Amino acid sequence: MKPGNALLEASGTTIFTVMSALAARFGAINLGQGFPDTDGPMGLRDAAAQHLREGPNQYPPLTGVAPLRAAVAAANARFWGLAIDPEREVVVTSGATEALAASLMGLLNPGDEVVLIEPLYDTYLPVVRLMGAVPRIVRLNPPEWRLDLTALAAAFGPRTKAMVLNTPMNPNGKVFSVAELDAIAGLLAAHDAYAICDEVYEHLVFDGACHVPLMTRPGMRERCLRIGSAGKTFSFTGWKIGYVSGPARLMGLVAKAHQNLTFTSPPALQLAVAEGLAMPDAYFAGLAGELAARRDLLAAGLTRLGFEVLPSAATYFLTAGYGRIADMADDAFCRRMTEEARVTAIPVSAFYAADPPMGFVRFAFCKRPEVLEAALARLEAWPALTGAGVPA
Ligand code: PMP
Ligand code: GLN
Repeated sequence: MKPGNALLEASGTTIFTVMSALAARFGAINLGQGFPDTDGPMGLRDAAAQHLREGPNQYPPLTGVAPLRAAVAAANARFWGLAIDPEREVVVTSGATEALAASLMGLLNPGDEVVLIEPLYDTYLPVVRLMGAVPRIVRLNPPEWRLDLTALAAAFGPRTKAMVLNTPMNPNGKVFSVAELDAIAGLLAAHDAYAICDEVYEHLVFDGACHVPLMTRPGMRERCLRIGSAGKTFSFTGWKIGYVSGPARLMGLVAKAHQNLTFTSPPALQLAVAEGLAMPDAYFAGLAGELAARRDLLAAGLTRLGFEVLPSAATYFLTAGYGRIADMADDAFCRRMTEEARVTAIPVSAFYAADPPMGFVRFAFCKRPEVLEAALARLEAWPALTGAGVPA
């Protein structure tokens, strides 16, 4: 029989699903796929339940229910000083995953070039390619994850249509500096290009680090599509409610892409998320503070066990080198750690299109402290970490 889409025929299942399945098979503590093990605020669950019981339960408006569009616009103003028109400049999507696909779909024509930064979140490259666009990849390397501005400038050219910028960044917890953002802004303006800003971790920032949306920088208001996720902001990764904010002209295109992808998302969940975005500052600060404490717990334990833990200023994740512990590829290390120690992480090589840096894995710390302690205890008992070495 004829093959289906060539790009999809050639691609595998996402690493997050692969590693979660392996974790389940071996009864491992899953510090791989990024999801909290404690659900978000009960008040929001109650609100969602009430809306499910009492309605609305039929198709909501294409761009999202009015209270959520208003709440997204208000949150843009409250947290980032951005004036967004809730009628024309917000589209609610089924998670940031759909927001990314709809934004790329809304902007790209076949042959357009898109600048991407490695490490890459796993949907960027496939969607760019499915659109017939051409990726131009700039890489960051551990341990510094420094953005080489010369390499970045070299990736831009006359055919550059857009760049995807993920800050705060998965998997390394990098928060791009204002100087880096301004260099990016200069290139976007010089090349008349757009930015798709994946800011799903906008509220999960620690240690006084400061997340700055590219959209707030001079000249960027009309060039950026800014994406957020209720999954991350309210610890409901299964709800799949995301939102895009951007200039009306581009948002019309995002809406048309969205109408062909999902058209809408469950109204009860949208209404609950609208309440969430209006919660007081203490909620957002509390979430970040809790995550920072969990990061510290895991980082200290991994360091004690011989990992080289790299700084993480944000997100659910930290990256760590295991070069002092074992000499093998990172996917093999993650597999062995799952099967033998029964702790799961994600190989950092999965975030690179080619020639990945070797020797680094990503751990999720968005778990209860006792779960992180239990994972550390299992690692401590793993022969690889007790001086016995990993058997060949
Ligand atoms: N972008 C990044 C950087 C992510 O880490 C994730 C997943 N957690 C997403 C997008 C997708 O978010 P959502 O679950 O809202 O689709
Ligand atoms: N964003 C999550 C992570 O990085 C996973 C989301 C997914 O499984 N698609 O772990």
